[in-house]
Amino acid sequence: MAARRLLLLGPPGAGKGTQAKILVERLGIPQISTGDMLRAAVSAGTPVGVEAKSYMDAGKLVPDEVVIGVAEERLRQDDAGSGFILDGFPRTVAQAEALDALLEKLSVRLECCVSLTVDEDELVGRLLKRAEIEGRSDDNEESIRTRMQEYRAKTEPLVAYYREHGVLAEVDGLGDIEEVAKRVEGAIS
Ligand code: ADP
Repeated sequence: MAARRLLLLGPPGAGKGTQAKILVERLGIPQISTGDMLRAAVSAGTPVGVEAKSYMDAGKLVPDEVVIGVAEERLRQDDAGSGFILDGFPRTVAQAEALDALLEKLSVRLECCVSLTVDEDELVGRLLKRAEIEGRSDDNEESIRTRMQEYRAKTEPLVAYYREHGVLAEVDGLGDIEEVAKRVEGAIS
């Protein structure tokens, strides 16, 4: 049986959101994207949104305590009880530790961390293309560069973290969406 408590890890532009949406359809469990939730908070002008906006526009990570609060609240909702696809959380070791502590409290375990690997030139090309299509305010060249640096410094260590926890599956993120989706399916089943 396929794992149902999943985490998608990878640099900006690796295709986490795209693959998460495919898994939502196939597995019938919710996608939990801190990026989407933070953008919604910014649009709604909530206190979290007001705090997060300047970090997001600059391509910096939003402070751990803010994001951990948002993710915890979402993970405690009923529909996450039978499984979830985390997309964009955790992004730091402190967030990963907070997630472990929460899952322990909820008496569940993360079953698989899918790490999507894509080389950097391809990533920047994808993000610039997305900037044209979606007009996301953080998809400009400078913010993209900062997001890559943030990824390398703060998020990439999670690959080793989840490898040590015995749940890491590395998946080549190059190729068309369906092809990558098949690889992901293979990795989680
Ligand atoms: P991408 O991965 O393509 O950059 P996301 O939508 O996942 O896009 O995230 C957009 C922005 O939201 C990030 O650059 C960051 O500012 C903020 N963000 C999202 N998730 C987190 C997180 N777990 N920790 C800190 N900041 C986050």
